[in-house]
Amino acid sequence: MNKAMLIVMDGLGDRPLKELGDLTPLEAARTPNLDALAARGISGVMNAIGVGLRPGSDTSHLAILGYDLDRYYTGRGTIEVAGLGMELEAGDVALRGNLGTVDDNLVVTDRRAGRITDTGPFVKDLDGLTFESITLLIRPGTGHRAGIILRGPGLSSRISDNDPHEVGVKVHEVHPLDDSKEAAFTARVLNHFLAEAHSILTKNPLNLKRQAQGLPPANYLLGRGAGYYKKIDKFEQRYGLKACTIAGGGLYKGIGAFTGMEVIQVPGATGLPNTDIAAKFKAALNALAGPYDFAFVHIKATDTFGEDGDFQGKLAFIERIDDAARLLLDTPYLLVLTADHSTPCALKKHSGDPVPLMMIGDGLVRTDQVQQYGERPCARGALGRLTGLQLMPEIINLLGLAKLIGD
Ligand code: ZN
Repeated sequence: MNKAMLIVMDGLGDRPLKELGDLTPLEAARTPNLDALAARGISGVMNAIGVGLRPGSDTSHLAILGYDLDRYYTGRGTIEVAGLGMELEAGDVALRGNLGTVDDNLVVTDRRAGRITDTGPFVKDLDGLTFESITLLIRPGTGHRAGIILRGPGLSSRISDNDPHEVGVKVHEVHPLDDSKEAAFTARVLNHFLAEAHSILTKNPLNLKRQAQGLPPANYLLGRGAGYYKKIDKFEQRYGLKACTIAGGGLYKGIGAFTGMEVIQVPGATGLPNTDIAAKFKAALNALAGPYDFAFVHIKATDTFGEDGDFQGKLAFIERIDDAARLLLDTPYLLVLTADHSTPCALKKHSGDPVPLMMIGDGLVRTDQVQQYGERPCARGALGRLTGLQLMPEIINLLGLAKLIGD
């Protein structure tokens, strides 16, 4: 059976915590199903982008799927807009955006406009604005988010964010990050669009209504993570595997769309702690029982708990993953369970610590001595320590699809 399921538990890796008896949340969690898989599999650890390097979630996923960052990563904006179904063309610059709230002095008072749930009625008035041969394309994302594309000749993604990333600070002017005339032009055009968008949003009757209700108006477009279009070889062309993505979070659907996978929408997959993990595993199993050869399943909340420093929440969420992992015990597919990076609760941010990795496929893998899915048990496994770029070749080899090198 030449089919595989890759499950990435975001930010799963952690460090030992005194409160957990010097265990990590994964080591301390009760995980009978994950441990049963470990006992049948081959384990190791992985650094998605390299030893000691602290990956973002965007860069780590590209590397895990086999896409070399130097060649394929131009900025998070390109991945975010792909997740919203926006097609990039050569010469485009893409940004990820928020609708936020500013006061009369353009000081940010709320980066998410009171966590507004639908930006559609606001951004529709901005879509298609033009200035000096450049068109602004914008589409609503989940919650307060939006995807932004600048289209036209002479653009560059070498521009700064206007999002100051904190409240109580004035929005930043966009400025060029190099000396090129393209970067200067792009910064000037984007500053124009942002000012025009502010004026349009301020007059939107829905904002007047929000203010009357005591809600922060969605009156400013905050942009960041500019990237540019690059042609990329799709996952299926590269590996000969028809692939799908199952994720709740927009970035991860974006990773799937960016690499040419089919993004399967699963009711209950939220990207939040309340997500329906079992529904995601079932959808992946159905996809593999159907036309798909490869299912990439993303689970986000492990990272969210890590960033909040909530080790008990992380531990409890891991136990929920384990409960759903019961569905995976009898699958005929190669199963790969790992994380994109560590998010230690003590640090509340991504770290360069390696993440646990295990591969299960009866008759495919050389089972090792590891009996438990955890950072340190996996480090004793026969896979050793891989980088993200080595993961897909290993999967392809285990599936029996690797090309012979030489004669
Ligand atoms: Zn991540």
